[in-house]
Amino acid sequence: MELLRNAVRPYAWGSRTAIADLLGRPVPTPHPEAELWMGAHPGDPSRVTGHDGTEVSLLSLLESDPAHHLGDKCCDRWGTRLPFLLKVLAADEPLSLQAHPSAEQAAEGFAREEAAGIARNASNRNYPDPTAKPELICALTEFHALAGFRDAHRTVRLLDELDVPSLRAHRGLLHAQPDADGLRALFTTWITLPEHYLRDVMPELLEACVDHVRARGEFALECRTVLELGEAYPNDAGVLASLLLNRLVLQPGEAIFMPAGNLHAYLHGTGVEILANSDNILRCGLTPKHVDVPELLRVLDFACGDMRVLKGESLDSNLTVYRTSAEEFELSRLDWTPAESGAVRLDSAGPQILLCTRGRVRLSTVDGGRALELDRGESVWLAASDPAVTARPVTLDQDGAAQIFRAVAGAV
Ligand SMILES: [Zn+2]
Repeated sequence: MELLRNAVRPYAWGSRTAIADLLGRPVPTPHPEAELWMGAHPGDPSRVTGHDGTEVSLLSLLESDPAHHLGDKCCDRWGTRLPFLLKVLAADEPLSLQAHPSAEQAAEGFAREEAAGIARNASNRNYPDPTAKPELICALTEFHALAGFRDAHRTVRLLDELDVPSLRAHRGLLHAQPDADGLRALFTTWITLPEHYLRDVMPELLEACVDHVRARGEFALECRTVLELGEAYPNDAGVLASLLLNRLVLQPGEAIFMPAGNLHAYLHGTGVEILANSDNILRCGLTPKHVDVPELLRVLDFACGDMRVLKGESLDSNLTVYRTSAEEFELSRLDWTPAESGAVRLDSAGPQILLCTRGRVRLSTVDGGRALELDRGESVWLAASDPAVTARPVTLDQDGAAQIFRAVAGAV
């Protein structure tokens, strides 16, 4: 059981308050802070204090003794690397519109780019590694996102409400084929529109959205999002594409899971994110970064309908688990209240990371060998061969709560 020291990623879309507040630092920070990374990602591994008192990266610690840290089952399935990365993600501005490949697509794309001799850190590299990148985000604050294609009939209704002259023919296409194939055709048309055409469409679209918001129409939230994205990314086809996606507002504790091929963009809010330890991102807009539309079209899943909001499955009064189809990870949440403040036993379950998000929690190994206390924002590494631990709150926050998130590898 080792306390982690974690890197903060300073992406421009990050918040100047959320992560610093979680870590107990002064706010606002001089620069945006977007993500706190907990894990053994080679780009920014967490650090632990070794037995001789010096700092060592979690990555080199795992490499020095994978069987001890990851366990045989995890090593058999994932090799000698930690299959997941845990993050706190704090977005003040929208992230890019993106999707991630399946394991097969990633392996094929990685091999193709290796054969083409594209450097792994090149800005035009789509597949820096050969692995899938399923993601789950669980809201800590109200969290706003676009994810998954909206039911095509509802999108036809949205386009009817807006009635943008330059988009009437496109609306007709989807009306004639209100399914995944119709969405594929419409999305492909929109995302590849020539810039001069976009320059004509966007003012009409933005004006229609202003009118719809003023009239407090059914799709006011969706239209406000178009207006915000249109201001940040003028004449970006991603703004148009956002019209096709589910607009989600997650409450704290609610989560969404993005499997391979799911098109999504996080908009605003703070959450705990768990994802496979991969950098395979295909972007198609809302970003100054590398965009590869043809490659994105190869991996996108155009199935449409409401995005499932996961509230988690309560295993007992303290423990809630977010089940997904991802084999790389499983996220669960432990909550304590004044009425439910007892100790909870966490059996050894392969490699684990625990992150405290509310109050202060004491962790003790059941053999009495080690104990430490986690403050809000602090996290700990538990090796596969560490004994089971019990967790109990030392301090509840001003709302009477203590909370930790638990990340484990899914298929071990
Ligand atoms: Zn993503």
